[in-house]
Amino acid sequence: MMPRFLLLLLCTAAPAAWGWSNHTVGSYLALQDVPALRDAAPVEVEPLAQFVAQQYSAVAQLLDEQERFAREHFNAYPPRPDSLKLPATPPDDLSQALLHALRVNPLIHLSMVIQPLPGQDMPAHPHLKAEQVMVAQTLSPWNQQRFVQLTSGEAVSPVAVLASAADEPDYGHDINLFSDNPGPVAALYGFGPQPFGDARFQFSSQAPFHMGFFHESPVVYAAAGFLQRSWPQWRAYQYLGLSRLAFATGHPYWGYRFLGWGLHHIQDLTQPYHAKPLPGVDLPSMLLMEGKALAGFDTDKKAAIERVATRHTEVEKYQFTWLSRLLLSGQPHPMLAAYADTRRDASYPPYSVDYLTNVVSAESAAQAAAFDAAIGQWLDTAPPTTRFSAGNQVQREDYDHPALNQQLLQLIGHFGAHSRNYVGAGMAKPETP
Ligand SMILES: [Zn+2]
Repeated sequence: MMPRFLLLLLCTAAPAAWGWSNHTVGSYLALQDVPALRDAAPVEVEPLAQFVAQQYSAVAQLLDEQERFAREHFNAYPPRPDSLKLPATPPDDLSQALLHALRVNPLIHLSMVIQPLPGQDMPAHPHLKAEQVMVAQTLSPWNQQRFVQLTSGEAVSPVAVLASAADEPDYGHDINLFSDNPGPVAALYGFGPQPFGDARFQFSSQAPFHMGFFHESPVVYAAAGFLQRSWPQWRAYQYLGLSRLAFATGHPYWGYRFLGWGLHHIQDLTQPYHAKPLPGVDLPSMLLMEGKALAGFDTDKKAAIERVATRHTEVEKYQFTWLSRLLLSGQPHPMLAAYADTRRDASYPPYSVDYLTNVVSAESAAQAAAFDAAIGQWLDTAPPTTRFSAGNQVQREDYDHPALNQQLLQLIGHFGAHSRNYVGAGMAKPETP
């Protein structure tokens, strides 16, 4: 038996988010050269309530269809309480009603902002502070986004909307939704108790919507069934449906923004630490560690937990500080090219509702041990001053670690390909019968 063993191991989720730290930057790089996006006309910024007001019955019908499908299709899916369904008569607060019906945190700010690429800006636009955009639990001391405020009705580039929205689910969408979390919806949403997530992080309650362990041994599921209670694939499905509806009914701003929300969950699962509870530890070792811990010798287990958390955090910072430096230098580089490399896109199965589970997370889980080992080798050679835990600034890092970089370039290639495949599915014109 390994009762709550893995529960403790899921402390991964590093500062703010991961999924490659800032999803916006990676999304720009992966998507900005896609012809359908590059050539798309600017879209008009629109408040959420206006979209819902104008398409109320279509949205209500879509969400009911999605609920029926989700109950049949998704593993361990907690049915939505009927009280959350959009009522026949539109209520006063349409945004709140939609968030309830989607079972998203109703305290999110829904700011109308975009993040420009590092080094770029939009003239004559005010900036918002992070706390005006993100709920308090998700604020991070080092992942510093810049938010340019937009006004209703102004024209904005589709790729900016999409790339900016891809970071948004980390601003509070999935915070405090479980029955044992604090806050106004814990008792309403029907998700049950939080299955996993590290209580040391204020944003840990979002983990079961941003991670998923779909490729574990049956022994692991038998002993730790709560590992199956995670739903990033459902979020990707919900937002894709809303995006298609918004595009089809003449609300392209929300088409791109919902698509970006769903894209976030696809991208999160390209990160091996989001797809495996304990990368680099095989099943026998896991069982042995737990056996020893149950007998009172928990040193190995604690060390494994610590190791995973450290590697996840350190590699995130390494990759993002490197990327930021490359962007500011303005020179071509294999990492920038890896985001935009389209050669593998068509080698994957066509997008479907099971793409996140069967394709994205399978690939990510398969690479987890090698990735973990490369990070370990890098940390063994890196001077301690470069460690995240040593402070907020990475010092004297030369990014000259071939084994680690090779792993990163591969994973970034996956991130780019899956991003384009998901976005392509959202933007595809519906087939006319
Ligand atoms: Zn996330």
